Amino acid sequence: MTHDHNAGPQGDTSGAPGVLALDIGGTKLAAGVVGADGRMWSFASCPTGVEDGPEAALRRLFELGEKVLADAGAAAGQLLGVGIGCGGPLDPYTGVLIGPPHLTGWTDIPVTDLAGQRYGLPAVLDNDGTAGAAGEWRFGAGRGCRTLLYLTVSTGIGGGVVLDGRTYRGGAGNGGEPGHITVRSGGRRCRSCGRQGCLEAYASGTSIAERAVEAVAAARARGTATVLDRPGPLTAEDVDAAAQQGDPVATQVWTETVDTLGSGLTSLVNVFEPELVVLGGGVTRSGDRLLEPVRRLVAAQAMGPAARTARIVVASGGDAAGVLGAAAIGLERLADA
Ligand SMILES: [Zn+2]
Repeated sequence: MTHDHNAGPQGDTSGAPGVLALDIGGTKLAAGVVGADGRMWSFASCPTGVEDGPEAALRRLFELGEKVLADAGAAAGQLLGVGIGCGGPLDPYTGVLIGPPHLTGWTDIPVTDLAGQRYGLPAVLDNDGTAGAAGEWRFGAGRGCRTLLYLTVSTGIGGGVVLDGRTYRGGAGNGGEPGHITVRSGGRRCRSCGRQGCLEAYASGTSIAERAVEAVAAARARGTATVLDRPGPLTAEDVDAAAQQGDPVATQVWTETVDTLGSGLTSLVNVFEPELVVLGGGVTRSGDRLLEPVRRLVAAQAMGPAARTARIVVASGGDAAGVLGAAAIGLERLADA
């Protein structure tokens, strides 16, 4: 066997054993068998059905895992074990889900023990944001980077950090939460943590929609017309589309989104000086309409070396991003075990 001394921190992984990867989301469960090189041998997903409680949802998850194991067959070869990604709070060191707010009724679930018993393989658990960062670093845009910041901007804002070539977890395993840095002192109340002025309270999809509803009410009160003043719920996409058409109310909401995201990223870039900032999640579907002004703000505001070092890109993403993240933390932690 040859050894490639020029390989990056991820090394030459061709032919090395892969993992079973499980992704537990609030609306969707997903599973896949993933090779050490990121090749996905099989993939499947289904609704979580949070309302049925943890036992039923875990049964569906483990059945999904068995399906992808069967689909991958012998081609996947020997597996290292099981990597599991889920929203926190959780304990990645004991493998216990403490009580994720998007999974009502899931309190103190020893998910790695349960998976270990089910599959007869060692299992590890990480925050899905941490897993996402590891996935982008190992398989995605961040290959070859030393330091990478990952943010997923959707209903809330999650994320993770790869720091000097290592996935960062923090003292209790829930570190690297970019959504809860302060971007407006004394500002809007954050739904997730209860504090005021968090990045998530401005730039998440939920918060963009909430600010749009408030801006429409204020516009109506002062007699300003806006295309957002119509029946039915508003989304971040509606705000983006209306701002593109030059609607003044939508533009104001969109500008605050760009300002707060730019401000939050500037703080993070100053702290970590990453080579790459990867943005995923539904809100980033706006692409360069969001990213271009955010890049300009970070370039103008961040400290010189950090501003010159950080590239801001959209996640490689897709439906399988959560599974690739779970695979990345599984490969990292089970290979070390
Ligand atoms: Zn918060």
